Amino acid sequence: MSTAGTNTARNTAGINAAGTAGEPLYLEPRLERRSAALLESGGPFLHALVDALGSPLNIVLPDQIARNVERFRSVFRHHRLTGRIFFAHKANRSSALVRRLVTTDAALDAASLGELQHALASGWTGDRIMTTGPKDPEFLWLAARTGAVVNADGPDEVEQAAALVRAYDLPRLRAVLRLSEFETSGTTLLSRRSRFGTPARSLKDLLDTVDRHRDAVEPIGVGYHLDTTSLDEKATALEGCLRAMEEMRARGFSPRAVDVGGGFGISYLAHAEQWARYTTELTHAVMGRRPPMTWGGHGYGLRMESGTLKGSLSLYPAHRPLAGADYLDALLSRPAPALGGRPLGTLLLESLHDLYVEPGRALVDQCGLTLGRVLDVRHTDTGPDTGPDTGSGMGTGSGGHLVRLAMNAGDVGLEDHGVLMDPVLLPRDGTPARGDGAAVYLMGNLCLEADLITRRAVHLPRLPRPGDLLAFPNTAGYCMDFGATHAQRQPVARKVAVHREGESWHWCLDEQYWPITRPGGQRT
Ligand SMILES: *Cc1c(COP(=O)(O)O)cnc(C)c1O
Repeated sequence: MSTAGTNTARNTAGINAAGTAGEPLYLEPRLERRSAALLESGGPFLHALVDALGSPLNIVLPDQIARNVERFRSVFRHHRLTGRIFFAHKANRSSALVRRLVTTDAALDAASLGELQHALASGWTGDRIMTTGPKDPEFLWLAARTGAVVNADGPDEVEQAAALVRAYDLPRLRAVLRLSEFETSGTTLLSRRSRFGTPARSLKDLLDTVDRHRDAVEPIGVGYHLDTTSLDEKATALEGCLRAMEEMRARGFSPRAVDVGGGFGISYLAHAEQWARYTTELTHAVMGRRPPMTWGGHGYGLRMESGTLKGSLSLYPAHRPLAGADYLDALLSRPAPALGGRPLGTLLLESLHDLYVEPGRALVDQCGLTLGRVLDVRHTDTGPDTGPDTGSGMGTGSGGHLVRLAMNAGDVGLEDHGVLMDPVLLPRDGTPARGDGAAVYLMGNLCLEADLITRRAVHLPRLPRPGDLLAFPNTAGYCMDFGATHAQRQPVARKVAVHREGESWHWCLDEQYWPITRPGGQRT
């Protein structure tokens, strides 16, 4: 999709700030219709919101999450599979998103007692909830009490759950058994190690435990969640789950669901070439073949050691040819590595298994953005810093402009998650953001050297001015509120839900949003 018109100035002359030279290294965000429209026509509206509610400010677009669910559902339909789409709530704390979602056919994955309570209070019922992650007894009790599925980490959790069910006379608990460390042939370990789940080779012992607690725990399936973009690893894991389902049936259980977890990802950038060029130039910068592109020569995982390039880029693949629902489609279309090479989706269909997915990030793609007000813009005339790192990950002065924002690195965790993507400049005076281009470092409002919103020089169409806003697009997945703190008693961003009716934008505080129309026709 197109990017916002506010970020389109492409003057390549005169950009030589912050140690960068030549063509500006833009990393333009991929913006779908709703977010693009908001950034194109909503400038005055967004300024008014920040004037009223302060900076930083988070915007969520609840209608987009329903659209994203539909995309996943259409992949299920395409493969003729039944099953459930569990939104991994941990990606965003928003009430509006969770309340809008409850009106769709999605389900919800709660990873803490608080998330479970939030879901229940937002209209979800236990039969549409799965609980994952580390579980304290209160969390397990409420899950069992309300009939939620428990994604069980291993035999200990099964024991613990069974004891609770008996002690408090709870309904029989439905459990998905989380597996990990799948192997294909013999000893080749093909899926990575994880803190979570039971190694697939220990399934027998796990089933022994489940067998002892049949009266209290009903195993409804098996699953995995792998934090990787590798389709090969996921195909191996899915195949391992198909085998585990057979083993369970052979032991007299009646499992019906295979849970492939989350990790479908987002493609953040509009242009593959910009991403390729950026990472190539970054490598050159670390090797000293071009001026630094980062604060203090930060290498994002790359470094030079006695003349050789070491390490690897620890960045999210910001441009992904395959992400979200398309990634699920690719996984299901993939031939099973060892089970005769037929597509994994076909094997699921023929075995009559339900497919469970747990997308977090992918379901909130394009569902929100974060606004920060520009406080001041300073020129530093210190030249590009090619000197040694000071140990804090930063050197001292890199030449160019420093832009200080009324927000800090915890409020917009893009860099923290390794997502490199340009913000969109929304001028205070409403004029289009055009100019000769400027490369700037974005600094936060904490009294802390490390409080950099970007460790890289960011190219903007012109130098920002105090009072302008920078909009960080697509932050709803983990980057909006996951790491926000009250450090230094700085305000934590408020969150508003926004929707468009005709040409006008409407908003309400996130906690005021309900997916209904009030008497008189006013939508919440
Ligand atoms: C975090 C998590 C997810 C969601 O992961 P994404 O990468 O956001 O899709 C799903 N399942 C489990 C068990 C998780 O811990």
